[in-house]
Amino acid sequence: MAKVITVQDAEELQRKGEQPPAGSILTPSARDLLYGGRAGKTTAAAPAAASKGPSTPKTPDLEYRWKPGADAKSAADLEKFFHSADMQVLKDRICDIGRRLWVREYTDGNGGNITVRVGDNLALCTPTLICKGFMKPEDICLVDLDGKQLAGTRVRTSEAMTHFGIMKRQPAAKSCVHAHPPHATAFAISNVDIPSCLIPEAEVFLGKIGVATYKTPGSKENADEVGEVGKVHQAVLMENHGVICWGKDVEDAYWKMENIDSYCRTVGFAASLGGGLHRFTGGQAKELINIRQKLGMTDPRANLKECELCDSADFRPTATCLAPDTEGDAVKSDPSVEALVQQITEQLMKQIGKK
Ligand SMILES: [Zn+2]
Repeated sequence: MAKVITVQDAEELQRKGEQPPAGSILTPSARDLLYGGRAGKTTAAAPAAASKGPSTPKTPDLEYRWKPGADAKSAADLEKFFHSADMQVLKDRICDIGRRLWVREYTDGNGGNITVRVGDNLALCTPTLICKGFMKPEDICLVDLDGKQLAGTRVRTSEAMTHFGIMKRQPAAKSCVHAHPPHATAFAISNVDIPSCLIPEAEVFLGKIGVATYKTPGSKENADEVGEVGKVHQAVLMENHGVICWGKDVEDAYWKMENIDSYCRTVGFAASLGGGLHRFTGGQAKELINIRQKLGMTDPRANLKECELCDSADFRPTATCLAPDTEGDAVKSDPSVEALVQQITEQLMKQIGKK
C-alpha cells in the first residue's frame, strides 16, 4: 500500500532536506508545501479521501532546500541535477523574475542578474549579455560559488561573484537579484542618503538599507564590499551602480527590489513637494523593527535606542540621543560637569560659612 505523506510528514522531509519516497501519495497541503502548488515530480496523486473537506489555508513556501553535503560532483551527476524537475521549476521562476525586472524598467540592455543557491556550493545564475526580459530556461547556467561554470550552454554573468560575496557570508541569502532601478539608482549616484521612518512597509520588508562603496563591477573588491554590507542588510544600494537584494527565494529577493525602488520614487516625489517629510517617531520605528524580527528577518538597528532610529543627515539634521528636549538631563549626567558643579557648590558653602 502506498505511503500517504501528510503536511506534517512534508515538514519533516523539508527539515531533513529529503524528497517523498517514489510512489508515495501526497495530501494537497503536503503537495503545496513541498512544491508550492505545482505538480510534484513524484508520481504520487492525492487520494480521494484526502481531498474531501476544506484544505488548511497556507502561504506557499518557495524556498529551495537542498540536502547538505550531497551536492552532485561528477559531470554526469551535475548534468542530471541541472536538468531535474526541481531545477526546471527554478529556471522558469528566474525567467519570470527577469521578465518582471525588464517590464518595470529596472534593467536596460543586458543589465541586471539573478542567482538562486541550489546546494552547499551550487547556484543557478543568469548568463552574461542577455536581456533579462526574454530569457528562456535553457539560457540559465549552473555554477559553483567560486564562479566556475558547471553546466549550461551560455557563459555565466561576471557579476555572479557579487551575489556569492553575500551568499558566502549570509546563509539565509538563498537568492540574489541585482538591477539598476532608476529611482533607487538616483540615490546611488547622488550625495543624498535614503531617509528612513517614512513608510511602515519599507521598515518591515526592507529593514535598514545598506550602502556599499563603489568598486569596479565584477571585481573581487566589489564582491567583498557588497558581501560585507549584504551580510547584515537585505537591500544594498551600490554606489554609482544600482541595487542588489537577497531573500529566501527568488520572488522574495525580487520583492525587495520593487520595495526599494517604489520607496525611493515616493520619497523623491515627496521631497519635491517642498513641505518637508513627515516622519514617524523612533518608538514607532522600533515597533516596526520588532515586527520585522518576528517575521524572521534581522535588522542591524535592533539594538539601537529609539532616538537613534530616524536619523538622516540629508532630510533632517542628524538626530542623536542628546536631542534638545533631553539636553538638560544629558548635561546633568556628564561626570565632568557634575564634578564642576560640586566644586563650585563647596566653594560657595565655604564663603557662606565665613560670613
Ligand atoms: Zn549592474
